[in-house]
Amino acid sequence: RVEVQNVSLTFGAHKAVDDVSIAFEDGGFYALLGPSGSGKTTLLRMIAGFEFPDKGSIRIDGEAVENVPVNRRRIGMVFQNYALFPNMSVEANVAFGLEVRGEKGESVRRAVSDALDLVQLGALAKRRPHQLSGGQRQRVALARAIVTKPRVLLLDEPLSALDKALRTDMQVELKRIQREVGVTTIFVTHDQDEALSISDRIGILKDGRIVQEGAPEEIYDRPKSEFAATFLGDAN
Ligand code: ATP
Repeated sequence: RVEVQNVSLTFGAHKAVDDVSIAFEDGGFYALLGPSGSGKTTLLRMIAGFEFPDKGSIRIDGEAVENVPVNRRRIGMVFQNYALFPNMSVEANVAFGLEVRGEKGESVRRAVSDALDLVQLGALAKRRPHQLSGGQRQRVALARAIVTKPRVLLLDEPLSALDKALRTDMQVELKRIQREVGVTTIFVTHDQDEALSISDRIGILKDGRIVQEGAPEEIYDRPKSEFAATFLGDAN
């Protein structure tokens, strides 16, 4: 369980995240939805422990993020610009996260092969990133994030570089993989359709604040503010 409690972070005079409280329950698929600049990435970076709040606390399974050493945080991440290692094969890219933790040999081989099967890339294990399509690269990034069996998977607009058709396919795939692995997932997007179709729950952000949190159908049927209604109404 990830618990964000009264968290704020200010850059200069600008409150990027303003008194946000939200809990992410185990195994749930959450979307953080909001327009550009609403604080989604900043919130995600704080959950990852890249950035620390000025106020409030973030706990993962009861432990404050800043008290957990980086190599024990067990957080998987995928960002829009996947940043695979260009000179390493697909399997070496996926193995990297395990090897830096000191794992070697057969257990790494098996974990990498399982992760690549899960994202349906087993057949392309020897290829280099430049020999893959955008969607395939994003699958490698996902395999690399889940191979370490994270407690939490953080996804920052992971599909936004893909074209519309591929993006829809990848939403279905991502959901299937998340269900299979059962990892708590927090997915940042500015795309209303994507948030509504992919997640179990949505938190809507505006100017650094959560303006509404709930199941997709609840948010869609009963927006609590004009902002939420207009923002969701802009879908399509
Ligand atoms: P986008 O969809 O455009 O990525 P976002 O909702 O993820 O937007 P954030 O990236 O979290 O928004 O940014 C929230 C606000 O904080 C923005 O106004 C941004 O300019 C500001 N901001 C973010 N990071 C920094 C930083 N390191 N220094 C100064 N301001 C920052």
